[in-house]
Amino acid sequence: MIKVCKFGGTSMADANAIRQVKAIIDADKSRKFVVVSAPGKRNKNDIKITDMLYKCYGEVVATGKCESFAVIRSRFEEIVSDLELDCDITAVLDRTEKEIIENKSADFAASRGEYLSAYVTANYLGAKFVDAADLIRFDSKGKLNEEYTDDKVKTILDGVEFAVIPGFFGKDSFGKIKTFSRGGSDITGSIIARGVKADLYENWTDVSGFLVCDPRIVPEAKTIKQLTYKELRELSYMGASVLHSEAIFPVMKGKIPINIKNTFKPEDAGTMIVPNEMHKEDNETIITGIAGKKDFTVIYIEKSMMNAEVGFIRKVLSVVEHYGICVEHVPSGIDTVSIILASDQLEGILSDLVSEIRENVNPDYVHVIENVSLIATVGHGMAKRSGTAAKIFSSLAEKGINIKMIDQGSSELNIIIGVANSDYEDCIRTIYRAFN
Ligand code: ADP
Ligand code: ASP
Ligand code: MG
Repeated sequence: MIKVCKFGGTSMADANAIRQVKAIIDADKSRKFVVVSAPGKRNKNDIKITDMLYKCYGEVVATGKCESFAVIRSRFEEIVSDLELDCDITAVLDRTEKEIIENKSADFAASRGEYLSAYVTANYLGAKFVDAADLIRFDSKGKLNEEYTDDKVKTILDGVEFAVIPGFFGKDSFGKIKTFSRGGSDITGSIIARGVKADLYENWTDVSGFLVCDPRIVPEAKTIKQLTYKELRELSYMGASVLHSEAIFPVMKGKIPINIKNTFKPEDAGTMIVPNEMHKEDNETIITGIAGKKDFTVIYIEKSMMNAEVGFIRKVLSVVEHYGICVEHVPSGIDTVSIILASDQLEGILSDLVSEIRENVNPDYVHVIENVSLIATVGHGMAKRSGTAAKIFSSLAEKGINIKMIDQGSSELNIIIGVANSDYEDCIRTIYRAFN
């Protein structure tokens, strides 16, 4: 039995948390590969090491020095001293500071949080430190080079009994350090799990599993006992930030289950994320989870006989493509279509984009709605039951929340609705309470 364990930022935040990590690892000898994040927040007002490192990079660019490194230094020195470790952390920190100044790379600077965290943890656990730079490789387009990476993970970790690996980064095709997007240590854990053919990928965080919705919005949200890969993908893509939305892909191929666990309540079962065929039907559950994201723009287009006009939607989408913009959803009716786009891509180009759509397809009516939030209600249970959508809509109507857009995925796995950003939290709370 092999388990890969990834510990997030809160689990690495200070010596007490790291002691907890050791107790978890010591309790189960199959926990052989440990992937760690950089130390995160110790309290609400604290700053993550990764954010401090991006700040250091900014200082290097502006002044050639990084004064904020002193804060990072003292956090690692404090951890090492509290854990009474016998390692020369000062020398490692000196070298790291010098490298951050010389490298002048945001990715390099940011990656050092995980590097230092893994260095300290390996020392404390008595495990081998294996640098992610030797394992994970990106291609020239910045995508993960799966073949190369899998091969390296297999060969370098072959015969290694117990190792700690920093999350979040690898090397690009030129050999320079490159990070995943934020929260990317979850992806590292998944890559290692696939490479070593783990039986289980344990993702240790600061909540007792994947909750039906964000606990910051619905504090009483229940834990989801079991989730399928597909449901996870929908929820994490739609904003459930507990697991990076791309972390699913490496384990999906190896059909390795993921167990989301709480470092501070290790006895809680947490959430199991499994391939569809391993999913146990629970007839009680209608909806599995609710997640959402703010700040979308809807371009609503109406034209009589749109359905009879060959290539209409293609022409609209080709204008969007021409601007290099990713499309989030395209819900359509007989004579209407809405194009939903993340607003941050539209800065300074929205009016040109709309004019070009007008020129290209000559619609009867175009209307732009900004500041829209998308909220997805996800669950395999919805397909088998009628009335789920009606329940969502009527509960929102009762609360006076105006629905601006509806898109029911063809998989019947989700219903996505658009509401004003100002209704975002209320909408999630209302849907949750309608079903619980
Ligand atoms: P880590 O640093 O361990 O990777 P993250 O902060 O990335 O942890 O993810 C855990 C956090 O995700 C939780 O503390 C919680 O605030 C947030 N979160 C958002 N949506 C959910 C959800 N549906 N279930 C659980 N946690 C969620
Ligand atoms: N430390 C990185 C971040 O804050 C990666 C991670 O925690 O997964 O985004
Ligand atoms: Mg995370």
